[in-house]
Amino acid sequence: MKQHETAPFWETKTLEALNPQEWEMLCDGCGLCCLNRLQDEEDDTAPIYLTRVACECYDIKAGQCSDYANRFEKVEGCMRLSVERVAEYDWLPETCAYRLIYEGKSLPAWHPLISKDPHTVRPHGMYALNPILDNEFIDLEDYIVEESI
Ligand code: SF4
Ligand code: SF4
Repeated sequence: MKQHETAPFWETKTLEALNPQEWEMLCDGCGLCCLNRLQDEEDDTAPIYLTRVACECYDIKAGQCSDYANRFEKVEGCMRLSVERVAEYDWLPETCAYRLIYEGKSLPAWHPLISKDPHTVRPHGMYALNPILDNEFIDLEDYIVEESI
């Protein structure tokens, strides 16, 4: 007997309806939100420039935050993504799964939830930008990414 396939949660649920585990699973691990961005400090309507400089707490070799559990204590600017504020996240990449679902779009075929392979995200995430780790000697303006991603 043929079994009915159940549609996956990201196709049937809104962001509000996700449980904490589904919320975490939705992140594709691209790392683009862990790259530093530049904006005029006195004008929060000014353009935001993406750089290829990763947060000092990012482990480039491992491809993830080096201290995810304590990230908010470790890095002042690290932001907790929440469903209540998702409308404000236009600084996230257009490919960010939270933006896609919020905008009623489908996840790309390379999203690990679909490909079942965490490596398929690599050409679409921070590694495509040849990231370097932030340090006190870096001038972010020298590392602005020109092309949009
Ligand atoms: S940009 Fe979005 S999908 Fe990519 S790592 Fe950040 S939260 Fe996850
Ligand atoms: S503290 Fe971790 S999660 Fe937060 S921006 Fe830095 S690397 Fe990313």
